[in-house]
Amino acid sequence: MDVRLILMGPPGVGKGTQGELLAERFGIPRLSTGDMIRAALKAGTALGERVRVYYEAGELVPDEVVLGLIAEAFDGPATAGGFLLDGFPRTVSQADGLGALLAERGLKLDAVLSLEAPERELVARISGRRVCEACGLVTHVRAVGDDAPCPECGSSLVQRSDDRAETVRNRLAVYREQTEPLLEYYARSETGLTAVDGLGTKEAVRDRLLETLQYAESPA
Ligand code: ADP
Ligand code: ZN
Repeated sequence: MDVRLILMGPPGVGKGTQGELLAERFGIPRLSTGDMIRAALKAGTALGERVRVYYEAGELVPDEVVLGLIAEAFDGPATAGGFLLDGFPRTVSQADGLGALLAERGLKLDAVLSLEAPERELVARISGRRVCEACGLVTHVRAVGDDAPCPECGSSLVQRSDDRAETVRNRLAVYREQTEPLLEYYARSETGLTAVDGLGTKEAVRDRLLETLQYAESPA
């Protein structure tokens, strides 16, 4: 199905997990600028080296860098049937840039979803988050226990370098200052904005998101 979505929300709210579930359901790619940046850091590309200091400090990387990444993805074949944007846009200038990219291609957004959760829950989720070095599985110490191996492949689980406590506080502050104004921006846009409660099990949140999208797809 042709569907173009933005999934917004603060760090740790579950955009990655829910974005995967939704993208799978609609058969569209999930475009995560955070994942693209981590891939560049891991590969040690010039772009990776350019953004490393921002990433490690929990600051936003420059707008033109992420806009370049998104423009590149839009020009690939994968996004012809739609996409889900996760972690982008994060500033008003990125949102304007996205609007221009869409307009040039005659495309429109179907929905902008905002996942929400209280700050203490975000901090608890992020500080316990662990990622498998080998297969990329994202899990939580609540689920696997401390110092456990990956339940999928047995490799080591590690903390993302920007998930340390000091960096997390900065990411939350950056979200409030630079990204939260976008909620209003999209609420006033033609597409509108729908807030969705991010608390509860993975399945409960997914079902809430899907229910919201049904209304977005078939306006009364
Ligand atoms: P989270 O939403 O949990 O913070 P992400 O993986 O989306 O995780 O982002 C991690 C980091 O990657 C951000 O703190 C920032 O440094 C960088 N980043 C990701 N997306 C963007 C973006 N759209 N604009 C600027 N920086 C970004
Ligand atoms: Zn693994």
